[in-house]
Amino acid sequence: MISNMERLKILLTEKGLKPTYQRLKILEYLDKHLDKHPTVDMIYEALANKIPTISMTTVYNTLNAFQEKGLVNPVTITGTEVRYDFLTLPHHHFLCKKCGKIIDIDIKCPIGDKKEIYGHRIDEFHRYIKGVCKYCLKKEKNKNKH
Ligand SMILES: [Zn+2]
Ligand SMILES: [Zn+2]
Repeated sequence: MISNMERLKILLTEKGLKPTYQRLKILEYLDKHLDKHPTVDMIYEALANKIPTISMTTVYNTLNAFQEKGLVNPVTITGTEVRYDFLTLPHHHFLCKKCGKIIDIDIKCPIGDKKEIYGHRIDEFHRYIKGVCKYCLKKEKNKNKH
């Protein structure tokens, strides 16, 4: 069995990126926090005390390199920040307007993985849904009961 770090190392190498310690740590963080859709800030803050030499710029540049190689997908659902998704199949995102949680929604989409639509080339495709998540709805319901 290969360790998770080994797996990520192979992945970086396969993508033509040198598996430096910082890149590996950033990738590991993304891998461990899939449901969080972290921002550059969140990743930096989580790693800063473990890796004193890391900077915001490093995290930012690393994510850009990952994005170029198709390792991460930017999620701009909140409209104010870029959140990152690690190497996932295309899926929809649901943003809760109450708690700010971003939830992955796996439903079949008629466009699917098409690279083209009616002769137009697709570069980006946003699958964003906004509303109130079931957890907040439940909380609201319970509040009204009392
Ligand atoms: Zn919510
Ligand atoms: Zn996602």
